[in-house]
Amino acid sequence: MRPTGKLHLGNYMGALANWVKLQDQYECYFFIADLHALTTDYADTSGIAPNTLEVALDFLAAGLDPQKSTIFVQSQVKPHFELPLYLGMIAPLGWLERVPSYKEQQENLSQKDLTTFGFLGYPLLMASDILLYQADFVPVGQDQQAHVEFTRELARRFNNFYPKASFGEHSEIGQVEQLHLDVLPEPKVVLTPSPKLPGTDGRKMSKSYGNTILMADAEPVVCQKLKTMVTDPARVRRTDPGDPDICPVGDLHKVFSTPETMANVYEGCRTAGIGCIQCKNWAADALVQILTPIQERRARFSEAQVTEILAEGSNRARARAEQTMVEVRAAMQLGLSTQ
Ligand code: SF4
Repeated sequence: MRPTGKLHLGNYMGALANWVKLQDQYECYFFIADLHALTTDYADTSGIAPNTLEVALDFLAAGLDPQKSTIFVQSQVKPHFELPLYLGMIAPLGWLERVPSYKEQQENLSQKDLTTFGFLGYPLLMASDILLYQADFVPVGQDQQAHVEFTRELARRFNNFYPKASFGEHSEIGQVEQLHLDVLPEPKVVLTPSPKLPGTDGRKMSKSYGNTILMADAEPVVCQKLKTMVTDPARVRRTDPGDPDICPVGDLHKVFSTPETMANVYEGCRTAGIGCIQCKNWAADALVQILTPIQERRARFSEAQVTEILAEGSNRARARAEQTMVEVRAAMQLGLSTQ
C-alpha cells in the first residue's frame, strides 16, 4: 500500500480486512510502498515519511500482526532497487506502455508530469515486489489481475533467459538429467472480495476525490460526513419514496449493516416511512461498530513501537529477498567467477 496518509474504509474493506484473514493461512509479506510513491510524487517527497508511519499504524489497527506476518517498508529493503534494474533489461518497452494503469494514471493525474522513466518503469517495481519473495500467491481484487499477469509474463521471460541449472537423479537410461528450474516462480492470483464502497459524494471512495471516511475518524466526524452524504436524487422531499439500490447510503448499509437493519432500510425508504437522517444515523451506528475496535487497537501503539516493528520487519524481508537475489545473480552469471 502506498504511503498516501491515513487509510480509509475503502482501503480497509478492499484490502486490509482480507489480509488480516490471509495471515492465518499463509506466510505473508505486507509493505508500505514508498518507492511507488516516488513514481508520482517525486516533486514533493515531504509527505512520504510521515505517511509511512500513518499507514503502518492503520495496518496494525486493522489487525495485521507482526508476529504472524512480515510488515516492512519497501525502500528499507535494497533488493527492491536491484531486481527492477535487471528486469528492466529484459522488459520490452511495449509491455510497459500497455499496462492499463500507465495511460489511465497519466490522464487522471494530468497536473503532474508523468512522462518519466520512473513512472513508465513502475510495473517493474511492482513485479519485483512479488518476485523477490518467490511468492506463490498475490491477493488482489478483480481490477488488479492484469498487474499479476504482467508479473507472470516477465518472470517467464526471465526464467527463459536465465534458467537455474541443476543436476537431478539418474534417468532410466543411466544419464544424469539436467533440470531447468525457475528462479522466479510465476505467482498466482488469490482473488479477494472488494465490495463496492461509495464515498460521501457517491463516487468510488478514493483519497483523490476527497470523499473518504477514514479508519481513524472519530464518531462525531463519521456522523458529520454521513450527514452531507448524497442520497437517492429522487427523494427530494421527506414524503418522496426512494430506492436504497440507487442510493450510496444504501450501498454502505449493504456492506456494514445487519440483515435486520437492511430490511428496515428497504421498507422505510421505499414507503417513505423513514427520513434520510434516520437512515444515515443507522449507517453511522454500523460504521462506528466496525471502527471502534480498529481505533482502540490504533491507540495501543506508540510511534516508537511502530518504528521498531517496521525496522524488524524490514530486516526479515531483506534476509528473504536477499536469498532470491543470490539465485538471480547466479542465474544471470553476475559477479566474479569463482572458477
Ligand atoms: S432513506 Fe436511506 S437509502 Fe433511502 S434515500 Fe434516504 S439515505 Fe438513501
